[in-house]
Amino acid sequence: PRKPPIKNIDRFEKTNLFYAVKDKNKFKDQTVCIFGGGDSALDWTVELSKIAKKIILIHRREEFRAAHHTVTLAKDLEKKGKVEILTCYQPTDFEGDKSIKNVKIKHDNGDQRDLKVDSVLAFFGLKMELGPIANWGLDLEAKSLKVETKSFQTNENGIFAIGDICTYPGKLKLILSGFHEGALCAQECFKRARPEEKYVFRFTTSSSDIQKRLGVK
Ligand SMILES: Cc1cc2nc3c(=O)[nH]c(=O)nc-3n(C[C@H](O)[C@H](O)[C@H](O)COP(=O)(O)OP(=O)(O)OC[C@H]3O[C@@H](n4cnc5c(N)ncnc54)[C@H](O)[C@@H]3O)c2cc1C
Repeated sequence: PRKPPIKNIDRFEKTNLFYAVKDKNKFKDQTVCIFGGGDSALDWTVELSKIAKKIILIHRREEFRAAHHTVTLAKDLEKKGKVEILTCYQPTDFEGDKSIKNVKIKHDNGDQRDLKVDSVLAFFGLKMELGPIANWGLDLEAKSLKVETKSFQTNENGIFAIGDICTYPGKLKLILSGFHEGALCAQECFKRARPEEKYVFRFTTSSSDIQKRLGVK
């Protein structure tokens, strides 16, 4: 995840700073500070407002990127006092010993505020980092691996890429696209791994053999 630009932020990651919600009940009756303006920030603002004591949503811009419907829901919750929305603010410091007790934020106009919180959720998006793969000599475009769309092979013979890590004209970063790419890629990999075996195309809905292997009754 992309982290808030706060010094030594890692020390709070074991206590009350989160980049995802694993168990929403953790936030029951808490004052939760949510950073971000996209779908994750707005979705969790609405969802957690049902169980939290209070949600403070902070975004660095006036406008939100999230779905219009969710933004409207959050603004309605603000009118009911369940949510406080602070725009054009950015975090400047998280104070506390082991856990964050006080969040310091600064408005574009210089105004500073201190917020007493029980938990902080930061939804600043995800960082694409290829790690060592970046040095494998593979063709890259915008930190993604270029592939051809028949078998999803990269420029390196025998190295394939599917899902968000790959790119090609028209690529959409969707779960559906990842499955499609996986199916085509697997066919090519099968040929390479088992050149002696005949490839037979079958549907999971009608092949009893595949259903047996998958444990479907
Ligand atoms: C907020 C948000 C909402 C979305 N909503 C939708 C939606 O509604 N519908 C939809 O179709 N798509 C949606 N997407 C897109 C969808 O999530 C992705 O397209 C999909 O998850 C890509 O799958 P993937 O397996 O390629 O990558 P990922 O799901 O990112 O999986 C990659 C995995 O690799 C792991 N990993 C990374 N580095 C290493 C390493 N060095 N060693 C071992 N493991 C590693 C990661 O931890 C991760 O678990 C959404 C994405 C986001 C961010």
